[in-house]
Amino acid sequence: MIRFDNVSKVYPGSLSALQKVNFHLEKGEMAFLTGPSGAGKSTLLKLISMLERPTAGDVFLNDRNVSKISKSDIPFLRRDIGIIFQDHRLLVDRTIFDNVALPLIIKGYTAKQVNNRVLAALDKVGLYNKAKCYPPMLSGGEQQRVGIARAIISRPKLLLADEPTGNLDPQLSMEIIKLFEEFNRSGTTVLIATHDLGLIAKLRYRTLRIKQGEMCNDELQGI
Ligand code: ADP
Ligand code: ADP
Repeated sequence: MIRFDNVSKVYPGSLSALQKVNFHLEKGEMAFLTGPSGAGKSTLLKLISMLERPTAGDVFLNDRNVSKISKSDIPFLRRDIGIIFQDHRLLVDRTIFDNVALPLIIKGYTAKQVNNRVLAALDKVGLYNKAKCYPPMLSGGEQQRVGIARAIISRPKLLLADEPTGNLDPQLSMEIIKLFEEFNRSGTTVLIATHDLGLIAKLRYRTLRIKQGEMCNDELQGI
């Protein structure tokens, strides 16, 4: 599903963020991406979601080289990717329902389809009864679950999460991971960037490690 072939990224006017990174993630896999702050985790996710382009090397999504695709093709390809951010990026002046509905409204779904799907997604993340609330009324863990509902509403084949448990305590973090596991079981490929080693240690997933822009090793945790 994802393949990096000698991918390097240098931001203008700064040192190299990623250096000759090679890895692949199979369809249906769930994996963690870890490393200290500044290691290049966000950059790697941004290259997958086409928010950034590699300086060198190639990024393949479903065998398609997306390193050099035209800008106009990006929105179409990004439809298959759900992205979850640490800071939720919710619209504070819209209800939870509207926040989650947005991706479907943009795609031109009918009001009935939007309604059904949004309520189903909110149900899945345990927030059915919060549909009419506004984000500031929700706890951090709840806001993160809204972000997840919004990311999965279009039924993406690939879910990318950048520090999704960053501000949450261990119990809430585990609940968020359980949600990802559920989506993964239903066939979604999942890649989670986190520096929470305690969380990773509790689970047995493939863990990609980067340090100063280099992929160190890639192994099953605990094996
Ligand atoms: P992580 O997500 O692991 O914290 P990042 O991918 O955010 O790491 O950052 C990797 C390196 O690239 C850091 O040194 C960071 O300062 C730098 N960097 C990230 N984004 C930009 C940018 N837009 N412009 C310049 N440098 C950047
Ligand atoms: P983190 O992964 O540390 O939570 P991000 O990498 O998402 O943070 O950074 C937040 C924003 O700041 C991003 O848009 C990123 O590209 C930008 N950024 C990060 N480091 C730098 C930098 N050194 N110079 C300019 N922009 C940066």
